Amino acid sequence: MVNGIRSSGIQSGAYLLVNDGLIHDFGEAFTEMTGYTKSDVNQRGISVVLKELLGSGFDLSALEQAGSMNAFLLTKSNEAIEVTIFYYLLDSGQKIYTIRRKLNYLLDSDKSFVDKLMEEDDICIGLYSCPDFRLLKASKKFLTFIEEKYDQTEVMGLCMKEVVPNYSGSSVERQWQDMIATGSIQRWEEIKTTTPFGDHYWNCIFTPVFDDGVVRYILCMMDEVTDHVMKRMEVEEKNDQLAKMIEMKDEFLLLMSHELKTPLSVITSSIQALEIMCKNDLTDKVTKYINKIRQNAYQQLKLVNNILDNTRVNSGYFRLNKTNVDLVQLTRMITESISVFAERKRIRLTFSSLIDQAVMEMDIELYERILLNLLSNAVKYTPEGKTIDVRVFLVDLKGNENICIQVKDSGIGIPSDKKDLIFERFGRGERLLGKYTESTGIGLYLVKMLVALMEGEINLDSMVGVGSTFSLMFPITNIRTLAPQTYVMEKPSEQLINATTIEFSDIYYGA
Ligand code: ADP
Repeated sequence: MVNGIRSSGIQSGAYLLVNDGLIHDFGEAFTEMTGYTKSDVNQRGISVVLKELLGSGFDLSALEQAGSMNAFLLTKSNEAIEVTIFYYLLDSGQKIYTIRRKLNYLLDSDKSFVDKLMEEDDICIGLYSCPDFRLLKASKKFLTFIEEKYDQTEVMGLCMKEVVPNYSGSSVERQWQDMIATGSIQRWEEIKTTTPFGDHYWNCIFTPVFDDGVVRYILCMMDEVTDHVMKRMEVEEKNDQLAKMIEMKDEFLLLMSHELKTPLSVITSSIQALEIMCKNDLTDKVTKYINKIRQNAYQQLKLVNNILDNTRVNSGYFRLNKTNVDLVQLTRMITESISVFAERKRIRLTFSSLIDQAVMEMDIELYERILLNLLSNAVKYTPEGKTIDVRVFLVDLKGNENICIQVKDSGIGIPSDKKDLIFERFGRGERLLGKYTESTGIGLYLVKMLVALMEGEINLDSMVGVGSTFSLMFPITNIRTLAPQTYVMEKPSEQLINATTIEFSDIYYGA
């Protein structure tokens, strides 16, 4: 047979001689080049052996038609080389296939940069041929990744279609084909692999490598991001749990506040009924105790109302009920409604406005809550005989006209290091008035939230021993958005009277 080859002019080399489709003989150079020995190839089908060497995409009939073709060959020790394979038909009817190694800058140069990368234990990198996407080179980590992801034991030298289940027509195939067509880099994020030891996540970058203007290889680099993904998932899970707990807490608080409000309202209306029905039968001592019950009931009601509103604002349940109202008139009315409490403490209370009228959209009940809170604090923290001034005027705030409502007292003042604290939840200043105050520190926190809800601002200017000025500011633009109805206030509403009684319930007058 060797004579036959010689006579065909093909000298010894890496050849395979085939008779009836089976390999009968091969040159030593074939073993030198591929590492395959006699027992590996003798009497085996040429098509099967060449597919083993050149990849499952290898087409024998295409070679036989063309006479020669280029291909990547994986040696027995999994080294990728580039070859040209030639086909000859001998006169005897035998076929001969010779394989000639081609120079390849990426695969051959003794330890190319890809080889060096492959040797690093931590680097996850693989090199695929195009267009059959055959794995030519891979680092250990990369092989482990592919084998674990696709549940295979050996993937070196295999084509993508042999590894990826249902590859044909899949999104994986489309994306890889797209890389050949466009030559553009692709990034896949947080690809998951599941191993018996747990889940792993990877970010992948696919870089097409060009040769002679066409994409010949795809270099795939993977970066394990399991820790990062796990931490993020943990935080997301904790956030979800926290959000659920906050929701439960809010619901509980809303429920509790409602439940507490009912008996408190029953207590205050029963006292009222008692006073009306037994007006003449009540001794001074009984009246004193009744007043104590009422004051405590109102104090509780104030706290419950504050908690209720606080929870509603925080959980987004708060709905504004806006009406067009003259804010100058409303402010005057609220100030007047508390004059009786100021008088009891011999505090001089004044109201002045630099504008006659300011009709604007406002939630009247909320505005009353805000102003009454500031006024009750002013009365609470201002000593007898001093003054409280309520003033309304226009100011320019960051280039916009605002209406400003100021409550200026000449009370104990607030130290500068406490100015921010008092607007925080449960933030209280010094208990300077000791037994005279029932302080919870929730009022100003709620005020600040309600003001923000109405797109306003609150500022504080204070000096210890001199007094405090709280300034409320609402943008003037609201003034011009007239709703169909304008609320005209002639006398304090029942709601204002009730709100005032509740808001001032925690001020002790020594009576
Ligand atoms: P509370 O009055 O129930 O303590 P607030 O939130 O209304 O709750 O007030 C928080 C703190 O701010 C008070 O404890 C007090 O120390 C301080 N404060 C509020 N208003 C004044 C004021 N006009 N003068 C002095 N201190 C004040």
